[in-house]
Amino acid sequence: MEVYKYYIGKEQYISFQLINDLTLPCPICYAPACGKEEILWYKDKGKYFALVYDANVLTSILSQYFKHNITPDNYASTTQFIRDWSECTGWEDDMSVEGYLLDLDDFINTLELLGSDLAKRPIEALKMKLFREMESIALRVRELGGGLRLIRA
Ligand SMILES: [Zn+2]
Repeated sequence: MEVYKYYIGKEQYISFQLINDLTLPCPICYAPACGKEEILWYKDKGKYFALVYDANVLTSILSQYFKHNITPDNYASTTQFIRDWSECTGWEDDMSVEGYLLDLDDFINTLELLGSDLAKRPIEALKMKLFREMESIALRVRELGGGLRLIRA
């Protein structure tokens, strides 16, 4: 597995085992995802495993779900992950180096909701890829009984 160096200081970095990097370099500034990459990661047997993706792709999946499914009446009963995104709280407001510790059950429930909506309409390959990777990581972490964190790089 390729190693992904996540720089937290000039010479300091965290070495992640890279599950997948779904970012594309920006054609103008050449930064991956134009500096909007996010890292979903967990620990297994002393190693750190990471999925790197473009925050805009997740936002686009969430806003599509929101547009088609959320009403003032059901907003309060949707998942915390979705409400955090909508209200800019929780993970959406976390800029810590190690990232926000997600509530795993809530995150898996979120993916189930997003998945049922994605199945209803045509979807770009990159969004589907991101969704599938997140799903398999979340289920893997549930098996491990560990924590899943999201870094907003
Ligand atoms: Zn750019």
